[in-house]
Amino acid sequence: MSDVRNVIIIGSGPAGYTAALYTARASLKPLVFEGAVTAGGALMNTTEVENFPGFQDGIMGPELMDNMRAQAERFGAELLPDDIVSVDLTGEIKTVTDTAGTVHKAKAVIVATGSQHRKLGLPNEDALSGRGVSWCATCDGFFFRDQDIAVIGGGDTAMEEATFLSRFAKSVTIIHRRDTLRASKAMQDRAFADPKIKFVWDSEVAEIKGDPKLESLTLRNLKSGELTELPVTGLFIAIGHDPRTELFKGQLNLDGEGYLKVDAPSTRTNLTGVFGAGDVVDHTYRQAITAAGTGCSAALDAERFLSALA
Ligand code: FAD
Repeated sequence: MSDVRNVIIIGSGPAGYTAALYTARASLKPLVFEGAVTAGGALMNTTEVENFPGFQDGIMGPELMDNMRAQAERFGAELLPDDIVSVDLTGEIKTVTDTAGTVHKAKAVIVATGSQHRKLGLPNEDALSGRGVSWCATCDGFFFRDQDIAVIGGGDTAMEEATFLSRFAKSVTIIHRRDTLRASKAMQDRAFADPKIKFVWDSEVAEIKGDPKLESLTLRNLKSGELTELPVTGLFIAIGHDPRTELFKGQLNLDGEGYLKVDAPSTRTNLTGVFGAGDVVDHTYRQAITAAGTGCSAALDAERFLSALA
């Protein structure tokens, strides 16, 4: 059993690194799979983070993640910049397989694989991310005070983002592909009643323009084909998230949208010794601090699970 680890952590965002820090400090010598191309998680793709407590003047996303990584490593977490490509979590000893085909074993596994926001798939979308294009009003709304903003989407999230943004913005234009919203009646009513929010129906974004920052959108009316220009300095894309749970299908219980189900307020999944943390579990909050918080909970749950085995 000497090659069996106490705990393997899959994912290296705020949830994975926090779980690594706690399990390392508990002398559990965690092995962390950070992901091959996206080590450090979602915040590696952003600029300034102003709402992570402890940084009075804000901190750049990649720097915050480098600090979390170094802190976990300082206490003995072993970090590998590799993807896990298959898992067997059903037995007492769990196995995870990396891209080279090496099988790693552990008594406990923490899943912290995050979620991927859906993109429009347009040129410029990535280049202008953090320069006007955003997927998170709670994170970035504050940067757009007194500016003209667009929100894409017709569901609850889009209405919530638009209503939240209207507190800061000069105007918020919701662009939706259809002529009716999917959002709940209450969310619709709030958006319709807000004097700063207007709607562009039956339309999609054809082009995102600006260099080096967002300046305008070209909109295409899907019924008439007509193109119009909308000058905006902020674009919030609220067309959904895909939790990274493909690997776990058939073993871990997922909800209708593919999020990992846990026995809240604990982080236990349906399989003994397997815990879930961060955005892969979280429909609602999706913040670095909440991901770090549940990463801590998962580490403590794993620690208790392992001490009960001993
Ligand atoms: P993630 O950060 O998504 O990390 C998941 C990790 O899992 C990644 O490292 C990935 O490589 C790894 N992974 C996935 N699958 C595998 C696999 N099979 N094998 C190995 N590794 C795997 N929040 C804030 O609080 N403040 C902000 O200002 C803010 N700004 C943001 C800006 C942008 C552009 C984005 C996209 C998000 C922002 N957020 C912000 C949200 C915040 O980034 C997320 O809530 C947080 O990163 C979620 O943490 P997580 O650990 O759950 O997942």
